[in-house]
Amino acid sequence: MADPRGFLNTDREVAQSRPVEERVKDWNEVYVPGSLLPIVSKQAGRCMDCGIPFCHQGCPLGNLIPEWNDFAYREDWVAAIERLHATNNFPEFTGRLCPAPCESACVLGINQPPVTIKNVEVTIIDKAWDAGHVTPQPPDRLSGKTVAVIGSGPAGLAAAQQLTRAGHTVAVYERADRLGGLLRYGIPEFKMEKRHINRRIEQMRAEGTKFRTEVEIGRDIDAKKLRKRHDAVVIAAGATTARDLPVPGRELNGIHQAMEYLPLSNKVQEGDLTVSPITAEGKHVVVIGGGDTGADCVGTAHRQGAASVTQLEIMPKPGEERAPHQPWPTFPMLYKVTSAHEEGGERVYSVNTTHFEGDEDGNVQWLHLVEVEMADGKLEQKPGTERKIPAQLVTLAMGFTGVDRENGLVEQFGVELDERGNIARDGNYATSVPGVFVAGDAGRGQSLIVWAIAEGRSAAKGVDRHLMGASALPSPIGPNDRALAV
Ligand SMILES: Cc1cc2nc3c(=O)[nH]c(=O)nc-3n(C[C@H](O)[C@H](O)[C@H](O)COP(=O)(O)OP(=O)(O)OC[C@H]3O[C@@H](n4cnc5c(N)ncnc54)[C@H](O)[C@@H]3O)c2cc1C
Ligand code: SF4
Repeated sequence: MADPRGFLNTDREVAQSRPVEERVKDWNEVYVPGSLLPIVSKQAGRCMDCGIPFCHQGCPLGNLIPEWNDFAYREDWVAAIERLHATNNFPEFTGRLCPAPCESACVLGINQPPVTIKNVEVTIIDKAWDAGHVTPQPPDRLSGKTVAVIGSGPAGLAAAQQLTRAGHTVAVYERADRLGGLLRYGIPEFKMEKRHINRRIEQMRAEGTKFRTEVEIGRDIDAKKLRKRHDAVVIAAGATTARDLPVPGRELNGIHQAMEYLPLSNKVQEGDLTVSPITAEGKHVVVIGGGDTGADCVGTAHRQGAASVTQLEIMPKPGEERAPHQPWPTFPMLYKVTSAHEEGGERVYSVNTTHFEGDEDGNVQWLHLVEVEMADGKLEQKPGTERKIPAQLVTLAMGFTGVDRENGLVEQFGVELDERGNIARDGNYATSVPGVFVAGDAGRGQSLIVWAIAEGRSAAKGVDRHLMGASALPSPIGPNDRALAV
């Protein structure tokens, strides 16, 4: 145990954010660089090394949290990164972007603020990179088997790294011009600077993983041909079909899916564009959808100089305390103030969009909404609550309905879908087609980075077993997902 009295003597402290007025003028990460270093060992010392560490259950990767908390407390950063990498290929992604269901399951959280697990995690990996402790780990010998991974998001990257290290020859196919999936073109720079993806890719290349960008399986290469060329395939193509809002006026100019808006802003940060063709500058912006994607649109619009930003959510405002049906150690739905929300804008709950109104040039100008309330388990409109708000740029951030079914990938492989439209798989992450596996949002539906990495690791084990008859690769999740996690 790190410090037997740590949880009694030390209060929870988290990474400091830069002042709002400073950070909205740039796109760098919102945190004060280095602010964790002076506090993190004491924070790790709050860990009680519980007999039953519920945080393990909360983390989909099964991260060995009390073990690395102990090493972080003792400032043994080499041992800490060894334990962290034992279960997580990319802690620099989760340490920045994970909603930390582990902290919701922390035993200290029953009657005190939980351990700052996510902050400890990111410090361990950042220190490891700075000290040169993250080095390529190429396999000792090659198996002679080849694997194609479709998609380079966190699920594809995790599967590819595990399989390469197991000795297989792995090629990752990515339809975008850069690698990283939603880490690259969904999540804005201010949440995670893309240099973190670039150096991981360099490590993976040095280990032997091959990458092919701007190749769309289903369009550029027939999926069946790809299957024939490789001993196994992992589909990690994400759940990129966005939910739409088919109300009158949807066709007006200035109404975009969030994933049309955010990638362009990321391309500006990559240096491909000088300004985004879809910019919020000087406009009244309305973001429809209250989740992570919506928050990313809010933060992006502020940085682009929006006149106002309003975020609409159809569901009621969540509570600030756990609801009785979401007791510890489950991951509760709570009211969250993200860094983007700290930066301004208004959030409006329990409203539904009825239609859009435009000007004579076909540009959206107003969004008409109505308040809604739950009645007999259904959302009903409240009569007399209709109103309109200015809207010159509208982004739709209402979630995703599953894997892309337009590009031929699903049909050409002939994989079965489940009742939710995701690619169906068994407990080994195998699809209905022999030798074809699926990991991440493509099989799970829209989810989280931590789940994508966990599934990539688990699918890699399924592939390795399929190719070699047995596998020594670790698998964080079996057929039944952990009960506590989101
Ligand atoms: C805007 C936004 C913000 C988010 N923020 C967070 C957050 O803060 N924290 C969090 O935990 N989660 C967040 N998420 C969710 C998280 O990003 C996803 O759950 C995760 O990226 C899924 O990983 P994946 O590897 O399964 O798929 P993806 O990251 O979607 O990657 C799939 C890749 O496959 C490629 N591809 C698709 N089809 C083909 C094909 N036929 N051929 C070749 N390539 C193909 C795509 O181009 C893409 O690069 C966010 C999601 C969005 C949209
Ligand atoms: S990956 Fe997420 S859930 Fe797991 S330890 Fe890190 S912050 Fe917690």
